[in-house]
Amino acid sequence: MIVGVPRETFPGERRVALVPAAVAALTAKDLAVIVEAGAGAAAGFPDAEYRDKGAGIVPDRAEVFGKADVICQVRTLGANRVEGRGDLELIRPGQVLVGLAEPLSDLAPSRDIADRDAILFAMELMPRIARAQTMDVLSSQATIQGYKAVLTAASHLPRMFMMMMTAAGTISAAHVFVIGAGVAGLQAIATARRLGGVVYAYDIRPAVKGEVMSLGAKFVEIELDAADAEGKGGYAKAMDDEFIVKQRELMTRAVADADVVITTAAVPGRKSPVLVTSEMVAGMRPGSVIVDLAAERGGNCELTVADTVTTEHGVTILGPTNLPAEVPYHASQMYARNVQTFLLHLIKDGEMQFDMDDEITEQTMLTRGGEVVQRRVREIFGIDTDEPAEVSAEGSAD
Ligand code: NAD
Repeated sequence: MIVGVPRETFPGERRVALVPAAVAALTAKDLAVIVEAGAGAAAGFPDAEYRDKGAGIVPDRAEVFGKADVICQVRTLGANRVEGRGDLELIRPGQVLVGLAEPLSDLAPSRDIADRDAILFAMELMPRIARAQTMDVLSSQATIQGYKAVLTAASHLPRMFMMMMTAAGTISAAHVFVIGAGVAGLQAIATARRLGGVVYAYDIRPAVKGEVMSLGAKFVEIELDAADAEGKGGYAKAMDDEFIVKQRELMTRAVADADVVITTAAVPGRKSPVLVTSEMVAGMRPGSVIVDLAAERGGNCELTVADTVTTEHGVTILGPTNLPAEVPYHASQMYARNVQTFLLHLIKDGEMQFDMDDEITEQTMLTRGGEVVQRRVREIFGIDTDEPAEVSAEGSAD
């Protein structure tokens, strides 16, 4: 069986789906790996390293698609809508594709892949179960996001993070407020603490208070009934408007006290809740920085513009949508480990075997046999009923 790795074509994408170490792990299991020339270059993995680990370097992209049984990408068509179209005609019937596909936001790219009769596995749909943790790209990439968000904030902040007593006077520590303490938020807390910031954090799920405190941050208590905030698989549920309004009131003080606000509150498949309003930004000290990691789906801050640095009320607001691509070496290393583990999960006795009783295979398989087969996606887009379902917070249909 041949595994192929094309170069990523999404503008600014510097990651690669498999790194040389993953090639070694796959060739050890008798798989052959071919890599498009230069695929790992932007991430810091030259062709020679792939060759050393047993991969074949192929100059022609069409040849990678033409020869490989399995194509591994960071961004398949759904996550690379413009440039990805160029690959459609290269995809062969029965070919297996593995990568990010953004299947919950638009059905059309999934249909296009299904029309090519390919079997697409969308890595975002990995179930959040202990067994699948090693294959969970959302978690591995969120870790990078949380880290890079803090460094990005630090480089825009006109002050230092740490407290220092020097002969030239005392420097006070920066106050960092992290909203949403999931994977990215917890990594942001840990990184901000390492830089010496005084860190506060808030999450709608009271269960994370212990984790926040164990990282040395203070948990901002908001006396609201958030008992029902946790939905399936540890994801937060969307709360009603009244709750959000009350929450904003109570958070205003924490935001005003912060030099840096990092927001990470995303609810899969839904527009991000607005947690930091324009008035709240106006209440911050000039020079403060907001990094909004939920920018892709509208942002947690009312003033966020995706992929743009704006200044409002003297506050710098950033809404980066592809931070993992800015740490491409380790983001690729972690992504590749997830993909490698997933491939080896699917392959038994040198053959791809699709055990549809296995939760991991069943939930990640998006297209097969010319159809969009994934149950949640079919429900959300009303494929069986001709009626799109109301998408619940977990990204599943109500
Ligand atoms: P996420 O990216 O879906 O959301 C980020 C955080 O924002 C979450 O903690 C969420 O509770 C919070 N949030 C959402 N709406 C909010 C609001 N209105 N106000 C404040 N906070 C809000 O979450 P995530 O980082 O992917 O992880 C969520 C949970 O899932 C974590 O507990 C994580 O440990 C767990 N998880 C489990 C597995 C597994 O078992 N395989 C894998 C990944 C994550």
